Amino acid sequence: MNTYPALHMLIGGRQISGDGRDTDEVIDPATGEVLGKLPLASSSDLDAALDNAAKGFRTWRTTPADKRAAALTGAAKLLRERAGDIAWMMTREQGKPLAEAKGEVMYCASLFEFYAGECKRNYGRTLVRPAGSRTEVRHEPVGPVAAFAPWNFPAINVARKVGGPIAAGCSVIVKPSEETPAAGIAVVQALLDAGLPPEVCQVVFGVPDEVSRHLLGSPVIRKLSFTGSTVVGKHLAKLAAEDMKRTTMELGGHGPVLVFADADVDAVLDTMVPAKFRNAGQVCVSPTRFVVEAPIYDRFRDGFVERAKAIKLGNGLEDGTQMGPMANARGTEGLAKKVADAVEHGATLHTGGERVGNQGFFYAPTVLSDIPEDAEIMNEEPFGPVALLNSYAGEAEMIAEANRLPYGLAAYAWTESPARRRRLVEEIEAGMVAINGASVSAVDAPFGGVKWSGHGSEDGAEGVSACMVTKTIHES
Ligand code: NAD
Repeated sequence: MNTYPALHMLIGGRQISGDGRDTDEVIDPATGEVLGKLPLASSSDLDAALDNAAKGFRTWRTTPADKRAAALTGAAKLLRERAGDIAWMMTREQGKPLAEAKGEVMYCASLFEFYAGECKRNYGRTLVRPAGSRTEVRHEPVGPVAAFAPWNFPAINVARKVGGPIAAGCSVIVKPSEETPAAGIAVVQALLDAGLPPEVCQVVFGVPDEVSRHLLGSPVIRKLSFTGSTVVGKHLAKLAAEDMKRTTMELGGHGPVLVFADADVDAVLDTMVPAKFRNAGQVCVSPTRFVVEAPIYDRFRDGFVERAKAIKLGNGLEDGTQMGPMANARGTEGLAKKVADAVEHGATLHTGGERVGNQGFFYAPTVLSDIPEDAEIMNEEPFGPVALLNSYAGEAEMIAEANRLPYGLAAYAWTESPARRRRLVEEIEAGMVAINGASVSAVDAPFGGVKWSGHGSEDGAEGVSACMVTKTIHES
């Protein structure tokens, strides 16, 4: 029998809670039930975490790569063993179907294993100089990292935030979302149980703006890593700039999906409809704007609506649930406003567009078509279970639509033409492009955006190099 765990911070390896600290309630988005009370950091808690991070960095930066790798592979093993329990807590606090939650924990394990290998591949180089002299290029860990992870992927977001720094030889203080704390705590606990020194990776919670100002205001922190909305990302990037701290910013998107008339329409729908409604659409790389070539538009729209109507909405813990609730009340309220605005602007609502049931934050899978470009939803990330379908005359218009917004995270395209594929790869402004598929994420491939979607990458070799600086030694 699973129970939702007691919640705490992890500061210097100690489980910190109580002692008169303020708390936040953690809510089950499927039922509205209060799952637990989360302690929030005082300013002296944050100072203690900073002192530990400074100490942790001094030892970890010179710890041999083999030992760093052992902590990551050990944690991966524990995560696989604990995946069922961690997935259960994640579904309770975030709402996603259990199978998605379990897959997420497995991805964390694979990512730690990949980073374990990657930390052994920190190659410098030596440049040829006149006899007796040389120039050497070294890669060194940047220093203690302050990392902020959101609620949509409670485990992966935290694993990405801490994995790169740990592999690179940095220490890290992570603030998972206060709304989905348990899965993130469990990821870090697996690292500590695998022998990671407790000062190297710590978990704090708090009032987000207070925590980020406190940590980024400290000279101890040398890098900011943030995943969340573009508006908060810009605010944090300014705070980081005050002290010239490095940044990795994974921000919002508004994923275009270009579907050309030569594509296999059923294959597109079978792949992209589930991708759209995965995690109730609360995914930064979610396919959002379906940019469909005119000859197949009616067929595509009808097939989309039919499949969206068939999705089984329910509590993520129940067998057969394909889509859970949205993660919080803000999400359903914001989405309802955007859908109403689209309809007011003249869009057609085919299905959904309403909350479901009288408990929790369920919102029906929603399909809108023929949405005018000036509707808010065509310009701002809906971050929920809504698909936007519009018809376009041909390739030039479709590429222009893909690049119309200031975002550039993930883009998708479906075509059977090899020549067109190459043109799309060249023309589309995005950090990740999927051709004839829905997946833009793999542990060994960089994940990140361009333009307002941020900069820097997580995953892949880039996830580790993003936590390093170069030092050049000219030896005469
Ligand atoms: P939000 O922007 O208030 O919060 C996003 C995340 O940032 C949360 O985890 C929050 O705790 C954190 N945050 C907020 N202010 C912060 C601060 N000053 N310092 C440090 N962390 C801070 O919005 P939200 O209501 O949670 O989500 C709204 C929008 O954010 C979504 O519609 C979506 O566009 C975006 N979002 C993107 C991602 C992503 O994966 N890129 C994830 C979650 C939310």
